[in-house]
Amino acid sequence: MRDPTSFLKKEYQDLVDQSLDWRIAKLQGASTPWCNVDGKRVLMFCSNNYLSLSNHPHMKELAKRAVDTHGVGSGSVRPIAGTMDLHLELEERLAKFKGRPASLVYQTGFAANSGLIPQLAGKGDLIISDELNHGSIIDGVRLTSADRAIFKHCDIDDLALKLEEAERKDPAYRRILIITDGVFSMDEDMAPLDRMAKLAKDHGAMLYVDDAHGEGVLGEGGRGIVSHFGLGHNDVQVEMGTFSKAFGVVGGHVSGSQDLKNFALNKSRTWLLSGSHPPAVAAACIGAIDVLENEPQHVRNLWKRTDRFRKAMRDLGFDTGRSVTPIIPVMVGDSAKAKRLSERLYQEGIFALPIVFPMVAKDKARIRTIMNAALTDEDLDFAVGKFEMIGRELGII
Ligand SMILES: *Cc1c(COP(=O)(O)O)cnc(C)c1O
Repeated sequence: MRDPTSFLKKEYQDLVDQSLDWRIAKLQGASTPWCNVDGKRVLMFCSNNYLSLSNHPHMKELAKRAVDTHGVGSGSVRPIAGTMDLHLELEERLAKFKGRPASLVYQTGFAANSGLIPQLAGKGDLIISDELNHGSIIDGVRLTSADRAIFKHCDIDDLALKLEEAERKDPAYRRILIITDGVFSMDEDMAPLDRMAKLAKDHGAMLYVDDAHGEGVLGEGGRGIVSHFGLGHNDVQVEMGTFSKAFGVVGGHVSGSQDLKNFALNKSRTWLLSGSHPPAVAAACIGAIDVLENEPQHVRNLWKRTDRFRKAMRDLGFDTGRSVTPIIPVMVGDSAKAKRLSERLYQEGIFALPIVFPMVAKDKARIRTIMNAALTDEDLDFAVGKFEMIGRELGII
C-alpha cells in the first residue's frame, strides 16, 4: 500500500537539500539585548522587540494583575462572550494614541490582514498591491474574488499606470483598494505613502497601510508611518498594525473611522470565529501604550542606536543597502557567505540571521540586523568590532 503521507518527508527533504529549511533557534529565557540562544549568551540582533518593551516592568505588572482579576483566558470569541472590559479599554486607548476615531483589535496582525482584506474588496472590485507586500497581505488578497494588480516595489509611476489601466475598465470597478506595507522588513525601505495617498485620492481609491514595522518606530512618539508623513484620516483610510513588534506583546489592529470598525468587526471571519486575547495580553498592550505615551526616551534611543550602528558599519566599508529604518542589512551577496557570516557572528556572541533566496534575490543575500533601544554604546562597539573582524576574515570588507 502506498503511504499517503510520504510527501511529508520528501518535501521536507527537498527543502533541506536546498538549505531552505528553517533550523529553529531556542531562546532560553526572556528576549533581552543579551540573551541565551541555544545555550550561548549572545547579543540579540534580530528580534522585532525594537523598544525592549517585552520586559518592561509596568507592562509585566499590568499583565500579572490581569491574571488575578480576569483569569488566564477570555472564554469566547469577541462577538459572543469574549469581549472583556480590558479589550474595550485597549481599543479606546489605541484609537486615541493613533489619533483615529476607532480601532479594532485582532488576535494577531496576520488575522487582521487575512480577515479584513477579503471583505474590503470582492467581485467587481480591484486590489492593487506592492509586489513585496507581506505574506499576510498576500493571503488576504488570495481570499477575495476581486481583480488583482501588482505594482513594482515602491514604484509610484507603476502604481499610477495600474490606476490608469483600471480606469479604462468597462464596466467600471465598484471600488479600488491600494495596499502596501509601510516599512518593508526584507528590503528595509519605506513606502512613499505621501505620494501614494495623493494618487489614491486623485483616483478615488482607498489606501490601506500595514504599519507592522512602523508603529513604535516612526512618527511622533512612535505613532507610525501615517504620522511620519504628516498624513491623516482622509489620506489613509485603513491603518493596520501589530502589537507583536515594537509594542512587545502580541496582537493586531486596524484603525480608522467608526464606519471601518463597525464594518470590520461584523465581517472579518478571523475576528468573529477565533478566540479573543487572554486578559494578560490585553492588559500588557494597554501598558505598552502607557509606556509610549509617558516614556518618549525609548523611541529616541532606538534611533540613536540605529544612527550609531549604521554609521560605524558604513565607515568600515560595509554596504548597508537602502535602509532608512532600524532594520539595517549588512549586504553580502552570496547566500553561502551570508550563512557563514551569521554562523561566525553567533560563535563570537552575536545573534543575527541571514536573509537569503527565496526571501531576497539570489545575489542579494544579507545579514539583517535589527536595532533595539536597550542596546548600550558598549554593546554596539562590541558588535561593530566583531563585524569588522569577521568581515575581513570572509573578505566582505
Ligand atoms: C509581522 C508582520 C505582520 C504580522 O503581524 P503579527 O501580529 O505578528 O501576526 C503583518 N504584516 C507585516 C508587514 C509584518 O511585518
